[in-house]
Amino acid sequence: MKKMILVVLDGLGNEIAELKMGYMKHLEEGSIARKSNVVASLPTLSRPLYETILTGKQPYEHGIVHNLNRSLSKSKSIFHEVAASGMISAAAAYHWISELYLNGDQNSTLDRFHLSGEPPIHYGIFYYEDQYPDSHVFMDASYLLKTYQPDFMLVHPMNVDDAGHKDGALSEGYGLAARRVDGILSMALPEWIKAGYEIIVTADHGMSEDRGHGGGTPLERYVPFWYIGTKTKDLPTEQVALKAFIMNCLEI
Ligand SMILES: [Zn+2]
Repeated sequence: MKKMILVVLDGLGNEIAELKMGYMKHLEEGSIARKSNVVASLPTLSRPLYETILTGKQPYEHGIVHNLNRSLSKSKSIFHEVAASGMISAAAAYHWISELYLNGDQNSTLDRFHLSGEPPIHYGIFYYEDQYPDSHVFMDASYLLKTYQPDFMLVHPMNVDDAGHKDGALSEGYGLAARRVDGILSMALPEWIKAGYEIIVTADHGMSEDRGHGGGTPLERYVPFWYIGTKTKDLPTEQVALKAFIMNCLEI
């Protein structure tokens, strides 16, 4: 069994990732990471695509097709599979992840700390402000890592998406948010690699120049996928294939 950290950078399109994320490109140039360009499922909205990434189903199959659906997931997610195999999972993520896999439509903004060890996400720290700093999401992840040594952990910051909604995909603010999170990754990833984790860095969807997403333009639809690990097989090029790739990496 292997250990994996999945980083989903909310709202990070492939184009901005290619232009602004020098640390991740450096890992590619050094053959430490491999990269593919992944086509996100439709609609390019967060909650449907968290579910697609984590369950390997298209939105019409898993039924979460808009952001206002606060029901509990009815599908078998990576968290469920990890728990069923006796491994430990964790998440430092937006509260929609706790709604999908822990709480459904109960008031999950109160679920700031889920540290009871109850599956499917054994240990979680959740936030609900889109301005919650990415640096703090990574601090939460670092705490979970050191305290609980999870086999699988989701790290899910929101500032890139937030900047895109304020100023659009071609703005200074959006580019700077991508640069900032690239810098944060450069501090976190060396430690995670040393600790024996395989790592994926990807996104749920991109961002349009009109400050929104949900549609099928290339800026919204194409997201980066970096993989740091030992598997030599082809990287996924469709978001719906991510779960199978991750399960294979975890050797479940
Ligand atoms: Zn968004």
